[in-house]
Parts: sequence; C-alpha cells; structure tokens
Amino acid sequence: MSLVASTAEIASTSTVDADRDLLDRIFVAGRWEIGTGDIIESVNPATGQVFATLHGATADTVDVAVREGLAAAQQSGWTTMLPHERAAVLHRIGNAIEANADRIAALQTLDTGKTLTETRALAGSAANTFRYMAAALETMDGSLTTPRGPWMTLSTFRPMGVIGAITPWNSPIASDAQKIAPALAAGNAVVSKPPVWAPWVTLLLARLAEDAGLPRGLLSVLPGPGRTVGEALVRHPQVAKVSFTGGTTTGRHLAHVAADKLMPITLELGGKSPTIVFDDADIDRALQGILFGVFSSSGQSCIAGSRIFVQRSIFDNFTAELVRRASALRVGPGADPATDVAPMITRAHRDSVATMVDDAVRAGAQILCGGAIPDDPALAAGSFYPPTILAGVTNADTIAQDEVFGPVAVIMPFDDEADVIAQANDTVFGLASGIWTEDYRRALRVGEAIDAGTVWVNTYKQFSISTPFTGLRDSGLGTEKGRDAVRQYCDQKSFYLDRSDSPLGWGRAR
Ligand code: NAD
Repeated sequence: MSLVASTAEIASTSTVDADRDLLDRIFVAGRWEIGTGDIIESVNPATGQVFATLHGATADTVDVAVREGLAAAQQSGWTTMLPHERAAVLHRIGNAIEANADRIAALQTLDTGKTLTETRALAGSAANTFRYMAAALETMDGSLTTPRGPWMTLSTFRPMGVIGAITPWNSPIASDAQKIAPALAAGNAVVSKPPVWAPWVTLLLARLAEDAGLPRGLLSVLPGPGRTVGEALVRHPQVAKVSFTGGTTTGRHLAHVAADKLMPITLELGGKSPTIVFDDADIDRALQGILFGVFSSSGQSCIAGSRIFVQRSIFDNFTAELVRRASALRVGPGADPATDVAPMITRAHRDSVATMVDDAVRAGAQILCGGAIPDDPALAAGSFYPPTILAGVTNADTIAQDEVFGPVAVIMPFDDEADVIAQANDTVFGLASGIWTEDYRRALRVGEAIDAGTVWVNTYKQFSISTPFTGLRDSGLGTEKGRDAVRQYCDQKSFYLDRSDSPLGWGRAR
C-alpha cells in the first residue's frame, strides 16, 4: 500500500511509515500488483489533503482474481481442509488484527476521518469476528435427519466457491471482516471490492492475512468504482454468492443482477431508524444513548437513530436538554482525542447533507442546533458538519423519510404506544430501533410491533458478533453475523444411505 506522503503533516505520521512497504499495490489472488484501473486519490477528510494515490482494479482484474481464487481454493486444499485447521488460520488473522489495531485505526482515521476511538473499536470488532467465525466453524455440525423410510439421512455443508464481498466506506475493516471471515471459514475464496473512498484498511487486512498464513490466492482486494469493478464481480459467472453492504438503490439493482444469474445475494442496506422515548424513561440514559446513536460516526451509520420520537408530556424538556448536550459536542479532526463529531467522508457528501437540511428548512423545519457548515477557520479545509436537530417536522416529511447519512436527526412528539408504533413503522426501511422505558413489558410489546431487524432497549448501537443482524423491508435481504454466518456461505447437501435388504420395488421388470 503506498501512502504517498504529499504533505509534511502526513509524511510525519507513523501510519505512513508503517505502511510504506505496501506501495501503490492492489492484492490480486496473492500478488501485490499496480492496478491497471483509474487512479484513486485518497483525501484526509479532516484537512482536504490528498495523502495517497492508488491505481485501482478493472473488470479484467476481477476476472483474474475470481478464476485464480477458485483454483487456489482447490489446489491449496482449503476447501477440503479439516475445520479446525482452517479455524487455526482464522485465529491467527484475528490475532494479527488485534496486534496491529493501532496501525489499522490510524490508517482508517486518516482515510475516513472517523475518530480514533471509533476506528480502534472497529479494529477490535474485526479481530473478534475472525476468532468468532473460527469457533463457529469448529462447532458447525451437519445433521443426521429423521428418516421417513429405510435410509440414514444426512445433511451436510460444502463451500460454494468464490464469494464477492462488497463494502461501503463508513465502517471498513469491521464490515470487511463480517463477510470475509465467515466466507473463508466456510472454505471459499473471497474477492473483496472495498469502496473507492476508503480502500486502505482492506488492503492492510489482506497483508495481515497473508502474513498469518492464509493460502496464496484465496483472497483478493480490488479497490475500484462500483459501476465497473463491483458490477463485474457481481456479474462474474464463477462468483457463487455476493454479500453486499451499501445503499438501498445499489442493493436493489444488484438483486436484479443476482436474480438473472440465480445467485444468492445478501444485502445490508440503508435505514432511517426510530428511537422512542416514553415518559417513564431514565432520562439521562436516554439522552446519552440518543446522542451516541445518531451523532457517533458523524451520523454516517446505517443504524443511526435519526428519527427521535418523544412522548408529548416530556417533549419540551427532553428536547431542550438534548439540544443543549448536542450543542456541546466537539466537532474536530478524528485524530484529536477531544473530538466527538469528526468530519464526513468527503466534501461532496458533506455538501449533500447540508443541502438536505436546507431543503428541510425551506419545507418548514426548524433548526434547534447545528444546521450550517462550521465557520471556524480551523475546520474550513475539512468536510465538517455539526450535530443538527430539526423540529417542526412530521414523519411524512422528506427529511423524516430519507436517509441523510450525516449528523442530522428529526425530533417529533407522540401520544401513546399505538401512535408511535404507527409512526415508527411508516417508513420504507426496517433496520434498527431504540426504545427508552423502564417498563419492560411495554418495551417488548413495542419492540415486537416495530418492523426492524434490531431493537435496542435502554441502549443503542451496541453489537455482538454472536447476535444475527438483519435488515427488513428496504433495509436488506438475508442475515449476517451469528453462529449461522458460516452456513450462509455454504451449499447444503443431503445424503440418503439405503439400509434396507431389498431393491426398490418399482415396475414389472422383476
Ligand atoms: P453505495 O451503495 O454507493 O456503495 C457501496 C459499495 O458498493 C461500494 O463499494 C461501491 O463502490 C459499490 N457499488 C456501487 N455501485 C455498484 C454496482 N453497480 N455494482 C457493484 N458494486 C457497486 O453505498 P455507500 O455510499 O458506499 O454507503 C452508504 C450506504 O451504505 C448507506 O445507505 C448506508 O445505510 C449503507 N450501509 C448499510 C449497512 C448495513 O449493515 N445495513 C452498513 C453500513 C452502510
């Protein structure tokens, strides 16, 4: 990976020095090559400076990576290797990620702008994912099914071949690991297509996997544009399955492509998640949880709790205190430990967020805090946007329906359970939700009634790799994580072993 140090500031960072050995290379079936695709310029979102350039992949590179990946899976013995032997390799990759967590975090903060606290957590999550999938693999049993005839019947699993893993820029390394670890565990080869805006930690992950002894050729990392490199990966006839995380529009398009191939595809897509505060809630807990749920990662999170519903009896006081605390959050560079809200991924994305807020205001929304690009000269070169809360909005308004993917929340009152369930479900999405109440019967009632794959009660945006993650409605198709994650990358087969003493009694030939 070559971090071309084009500024003195970047040249002095240990990240660049540590990763200089990777020099403008992409990872094609075990070879570090200079890509033949367009040049990707990586910009530090905190400074607006280009810190690295990289020649990306092309559709031809995808073809090479898929064909060689398939051959490598067979020739290296990976597909038939005993589960505990494959698991040992995954353990070593997890340990290598953990040992390099600071290096990964620094690189990811440079590339995505995220705070170091967040990028360290993402590195930790990726390490845990590799180790968890190793354990899941070692304990993944086939089954002896109940026969309905004179047979012994078995159900078993086998690898699918080559898996395409396509990821967005908002949580690299963690989203990479959620696809690559179970797909490798299942005995497949993987071709990863990281986002143009944040390709570096996926390449670093490949280096760590290589050093940890992953057989050569099993993993490729091909940064490049979605419309060429990503599209070629999904359409490739030898790609047996794709796991995609990204926007709903892209996901819907890829579902059509997959349908034409009759190929399974897992889609983790967008959201507009409701977070609901009842009047009996622990108010301090709810305030802190809501701030974290929507403003951490600068709101660039599929699960951001960006539709806040507060029971009418506490609406005014709760809103006032939420606004006070949101206004006190510190906007700054991700590398500064004092920063709460780091820059957005690019200037263009920041501007699109600002436009959505401006449009909402023109449509009648009232800005309670934030709502304008910061005028602090120290932030002028970066892509910063402050925590923003909008009121005077109904759930039917565009700003309450469309995913902003920035530090922007709408706050709305509700009267009772029936009212808030109806409003919360009045969305095309179904990813996550938060419920703040001291009444657990109510929490369960409301949580069951809300169409969302994940429900947090008195907490928000907390994850275990052992807990499955599903997007309902326009938020996705299929499930990631959990013990069954490895099976999602397997074909299931059944065996009937005859145990009767006579041949089948069919026809008159006898
Ligand atoms: P995106 O859909 O634009 O891109 C995601 C990935 O798909 C990128 O690597 C991109 O290059 C690739 N891609 C784009 N077009 C493609 C095509 N035609 N064929 C193949 N690949 C293609 O999304 P984004 O802007 O990078 O990410 C933000 C979106 O991701 C948000 O909507 C967010 O909610 C969603 N997201 C969802 C989850 C989840 O788990 N549900 C997690 C994180 C982000």
